[in-house]
Amino acid sequence: MSVTPEEAARAALRERQGPGARYDSPHAPGRELRWARRGTAYFARKLGELSDAELDRPSLLPGWSRRHVIAHVGYNARALTRLLAWARSGVETPMYSSPRQRAAEIEAGATLPARALRSLFAHAATHLDVEWRDLPDTAWDAEIRTAQGRLVPARETAWMRTREVWLHALDLDHGGSPRDFPPELLDAVLADVLGAWQRRQEPVHLVLAAPGRQPLTIGDGGPVVSGAVPELVRWLTGRGSAGVSADSALPALPRWF
Ligand code: ZN
Repeated sequence: MSVTPEEAARAALRERQGPGARYDSPHAPGRELRWARRGTAYFARKLGELSDAELDRPSLLPGWSRRHVIAHVGYNARALTRLLAWARSGVETPMYSSPRQRAAEIEAGATLPARALRSLFAHAATHLDVEWRDLPDTAWDAEIRTAQGRLVPARETAWMRTREVWLHALDLDHGGSPRDFPPELLDAVLADVLGAWQRRQEPVHLVLAAPGRQPLTIGDGGPVVSGAVPELVRWLTGRGSAGVSADSALPALPRWF
């Protein structure tokens, strides 16, 4: 039986931690969990740099203050925790009971005292991480439903959280940049946006041109949109066109998800 370096490292870690220590299942989506945890730390750092008074300021999302973003990211972790409970038990527990309940929860959460808002984010993220660590092997492939109604395996929760923490850290409007993202994460976000549009058959026709890369034709092609990958990702995810230019007018884009 051959043992990969990763398995050997995991076995060594288990040895050091002794029996009873928690670690990710070998069946867990390791790469996405690492991104989600790193993104959680990134979001936490941005949040930690903001004073309580600064939380009242607008975020980059229309109509949302930073408080709304923080409440949303906190409640998103709780919603994903519900999906893991579903995967584990087989009893359907949706992320949110309705879009209206989701919106009302965010509105109410945004009015919490600053300290409570900060601990909502921290506690919900920790709880989610513990659920990931303790998820039984077989539950990673159990089907759950996203807030958009898509049936996906529970392992998708790691990617769903990855998107939330990294992108919303930018929305805090506190010096975050997609240049801070791991390069493979940028590629994964790019693929996710294009995949979502394809699934929904959005009529997007353009060519993406990043320096040093093969141009990427989307749909039937069209205007050539140029920029470095981080800036293209920012634009494709609906967060402004800084650093992006086109050989004609920049096309309007559908939402991501
Ligand atoms: Zn979100």
